[in-house]
Amino acid sequence: GKVLVSGANGFIAAWVVRLLLEAGFSVRGTVRSEAKCAHFRKEFASYGNRLEFVIVPDITKEGAFDEAVKGVDAIEHTASPFHLNAVAEPDEFIVPAIQGTVGILESARKHGTSIKRIVITGSCAAVLQIEPEPKTFSELNWNEQAPKAVELGHDMSTLTIYRASKTLAERAAWEFFNEHKGEVGWDLVVINPPYVFGPTIHDTPTPDALNTSAREFYTILTEPSSPATLRLGSCWVDVRDVGHAHVLALLKASAGGERIIVSAGPYVWQDWLDAAPDSPKFQKGVPGSSKGIVYQLQYDARKSVRVLGMTYRTMQETARDTVADWEARGWQ
Ligand code: NDP
Repeated sequence: GKVLVSGANGFIAAWVVRLLLEAGFSVRGTVRSEAKCAHFRKEFASYGNRLEFVIVPDITKEGAFDEAVKGVDAIEHTASPFHLNAVAEPDEFIVPAIQGTVGILESARKHGTSIKRIVITGSCAAVLQIEPEPKTFSELNWNEQAPKAVELGHDMSTLTIYRASKTLAERAAWEFFNEHKGEVGWDLVVINPPYVFGPTIHDTPTPDALNTSAREFYTILTEPSSPATLRLGSCWVDVRDVGHAHVLALLKASAGGERIIVSAGPYVWQDWLDAAPDSPKFQKGVPGSSKGIVYQLQYDARKSVRVLGMTYRTMQETARDTVADWEARGWQ
């Protein structure tokens, strides 16, 4: 079958594309400009004509995906803004997140006559809330906080705006699906990862060109930070496992209709310093000092194991392969 992958040049999407190709699918990737294809034509040259690109310059335009969805059997929608730079307007995130998602579903409804399944890259940003006590979240939880904080103007940090955008986009996707499920030949899966780390195969000529999560990982290992920072953390998953989840979400019939958290577990940054291969170029913090720490935020990822059959890479494996990737690029 042929799979449409939106935002195909992104950190996660590049792995989705590669793992789809390795699993035998053909892939049509959407990117915003021709210039973003060159790297991939080289990187994926061995797959020949099983990979094609279409340019969708503005995903917020009505009918933006009308042509792209024609003739594909499934969609993996990953395109959505994720950065932490200051923004003038929450709509810089919220509009492309919602309209990109609803737009691709609308195009699929009208023109995706052969589509059987649509997978959306959601986020744990649409699941978590800031709580006073440590908490384990599951697919039953929704981030009500971030959309409210942004709507009321109480918290306009880019991270909160991002979290609001992912919550509102996922809600809009389920609403669209519930409204139209009687008239479409496809069902919906949402994959919700926490922070995604790991080696990159998209176009990252310098560390500065890394996407948000991979750059944060690079900065923590290679630049000094305060003890307080090293006690901070979240949950994480390897980008290759996220890619695998996107492939499994197409292969497992029972995934239809599910929102699925894909998380390897919690971390504080000291854990990553301890897991990383030994190098004089990396900060060390206080090795072992995070042993026994209580993690503020955890996810119940059992559904991913039950429904998708997920297995997760360890911190050691992800750290080793990420550092090896930097070395191969001459960054270390
Ligand atoms: P990247 O920044 O590497 O990729 C983002 C992709 O979305 C790129 O293809 C980018 O295109 C596209 N995009 C961004 N803004 C727009 C826009 N306004 N209009 C059209 N396309 C846009 O990030 P990731 O791979 O990390 O993110 C991919 C998805 O995964 C996103 O939906 C994100 O929310 C989600 N996610 C990421 C996590 C992480 O830790 N990395 C965690 C959880 C979810 P271009 O290159 O042209 O800007």
